[in-house]
Amino acid sequence: MQFKELKLNKPIIRALFEKNYEEPTLVQERAIPVILTKKDIIVSAQTGTGKTAAYALPILQLLFDKQDAPKKGKKIKALVVCPTRELAIQIEENFQTYSKYTNLRTGVIFGGASIEPQKDMLKKGIDILVATPGRLLDLHKQDVVNLDYVEILVLDEADLMLDMGFIDDVKKIERLCPDGKQILLFSATMPYKVEHLANSILKSPAYVEV
Ligand code: AMP
Repeated sequence: MQFKELKLNKPIIRALFEKNYEEPTLVQERAIPVILTKKDIIVSAQTGTGKTAAYALPILQLLFDKQDAPKKGKKIKALVVCPTRELAIQIEENFQTYSKYTNLRTGVIFGGASIEPQKDMLKKGIDILVATPGRLLDLHKQDVVNLDYVEILVLDEADLMLDMGFIDDVKKIERLCPDGKQILLFSATMPYKVEHLANSILKSPAYVEV
């Protein structure tokens, strides 16, 4: 299969071409068409399968056609929540790479680092935010993060987030985002507690397992 068959826009295809990605990985082939239909999805996939691009590419595609004018002040329309700082940085780098030829702006926030530069970045306005749960809630409480315009919420490495004790934070973040948003849940393993979380917040999700 070719990326073109997944109906991705030219600026996204161009960035993939530059990365020398020749074809989608299995998880991308299965998840991208579903995410593009705006359905909720549960994806069981390990790191190394190309799972980050499996949600980053369709998110960019969905947001691409409805970008705010740069001067209007960008609103966060996609929010990716993940357990660790390292992962957050890595995910945001992926979004930067794939969005290179679009006007979509991305940002990342995480704990254990100075908060002021993160506030400055948020005030400039971004379309896509990657965050760890604690810092996200902190900055939301301080009114620097506005989640009122979130259309797509990604919970990445959901199993690890629950193992690390973030269940209440994750539920709170979900409630802070508008009703009717699309939720994408990615997890390496599917223990009962992940299924339970998925059942409580996702609506008629599709399942992809690789
Ligand atoms: P991930 O599972 O998201 O951590 O991705 C694992 C690695 O695969 C990353 O280094 C990606 O840059 C790379 N990758 C993702 N999608 C593709 C693709 N379609 N073709 C080649 N490499 C890819």
